[in-house]
Amino acid sequence: MKSVEQVVTLQSERTEELKVFISHRESTCGECGENLGSKAWITLAGEKGALCLACADLDHLLFLPSGNVALTRRARKHSTLAAVVLKWSRARKRYERQGLLVEAQGLEKAEEECLADSEVRARQRAREAIRREEADSKYVKEFAARAREFFPGCPTGREREIAEHACLKYSGRIGRSATAKAMDEATVRLAVIAHVRHRETKYDELLAKGRERWEARATVEEAVWRVLQKWEAKS
Ligand SMILES: [Zn+2]
Repeated sequence: MKSVEQVVTLQSERTEELKVFISHRESTCGECGENLGSKAWITLAGEKGALCLACADLDHLLFLPSGNVALTRRARKHSTLAAVVLKWSRARKRYERQGLLVEAQGLEKAEEECLADSEVRARQRAREAIRREEADSKYVKEFAARAREFFPGCPTGREREIAEHACLKYSGRIGRSATAKAMDEATVRLAVIAHVRHRETKYDELLAKGRERWEARATVEEAVWRVLQKWEAKS
């Protein structure tokens, strides 16, 4: 049967990860003999016990606190020498990872890569916004043309207003393939009816007075129908 010490040694050998501990008690470097005080950053070196980072040849590394996963992963990848920094948590009674000690040039390279990534993402977002805008303006134009087609008597400019409203409502939900369906007569007609109800009747006024929607709609139904008839006729 293996002793506890043997098991711990085997485990740390397997992980091959250099560890630096933020000490929670007074410590002295086992090599240079310097009193490191409490909360010193140390490595543990077998029989010598604690070593200061200078003696452990780790004092040229930079501390990268945990939090930025991509930066951490890249900094480790670009650092030949790296060490995990652990601190004892009194509350949780275990060592907790504080971050990573990495090489300066490794960190620099990682930062450059992350920056390049964020620039790429910003460019992608800008392109996507332009594409979206183009799709929207194309959609508004087509929708307006359809509204004009079904309602040739509609006052000038209203078809644009109706189309823009429809675009606000449907954009984001409409993919290229769904555009045709979104332009069918029933959809265009519903958009025109909603517009007429709000702009050509007392519907909004009735709602403002606290009427129920169904009641207000019934009240203005005939007025809506009259306007639609007028708009459907060629002027
Ligand atoms: Zn030392």
